[in-house]
Amino acid sequence: MSEIILKARNIRKTYKEGKVSTEVLKNVNVDIYKDEITAIIGQSGSGKSTLLHVLGTLDSPDSGELIFNNENLLSLSANKKAQFRNKNLGFVYQFHHLLGDFSALENVMMPLLIADTPVKTAKEQALSYLQKVGLSHRVNYRPQEMSGGERQRVAIARALVNKPDLVLADEPTGNLDAKNAQEVFNLFTYLAKTEHLAVVMVTHDQNLASKCDRTYLMKDGVIDVQNS
Ligand code: ADP
Ligand code: MG
Repeated sequence: MSEIILKARNIRKTYKEGKVSTEVLKNVNVDIYKDEITAIIGQSGSGKSTLLHVLGTLDSPDSGELIFNNENLLSLSANKKAQFRNKNLGFVYQFHHLLGDFSALENVMMPLLIADTPVKTAKEQALSYLQKVGLSHRVNYRPQEMSGGERQRVAIARALVNKPDLVLADEPTGNLDAKNAQEVFNLFTYLAKTEHLAVVMVTHDQNLASKCDRTYLMKDGVIDVQNS
């Protein structure tokens, strides 16, 4: 059995808006394994995105523990969390979240530049990742000049270019038609395996989830192990 990279324990999170409070994560325990693609499924509103944000240190839980390779992430300062994310994590969203004023190449270079990589090296690495996602012919295109599938492939290149250990993806194919969704999913999972990444992928698509190594079901604020 492979090693655990990220362990979440007793995670609780309640949103409060005025007098209304919504308990979204009631007591979530989840293990994410190295070299595995973990799918998280569950109804809309069940807390999948909230959990993914907590796992990625983008959002803080009210209580609980988050252990990444023996390091307790919740005790890090905001600055240290940002450094941690830049170095160790990649994110892919349903809507590409690329910067519209920048080319595909510049978008993919961005995480490297934030990590103080010299421009020449950043460019070489970004070009290599754009090649891996099959977009060498689109490096100078801006997001609005590309198709939905191409934009998601740029977003995947951007998430992987820093060679993260863990990639968190929130419905990465949710905005694509069935054919493009399948292609982007196949590319993403192929790259995850060849680069030895751990991936957590939120998806609505039971068919895609069944192709992952492990599936967790988010229900009533807790995680159920579906299969593994
Ligand atoms: P999913 O991704 O499974 O569709 P979410 O994690 O986005 O679910 O949302 C879970 C619940 O938390 C929903 O009821 C949603 O309305 C609520 N929620 C999410 N984000 C916020 C927020 N920032 N403020 C208040 N409520 C929120
Ligand atoms: Mg969501």
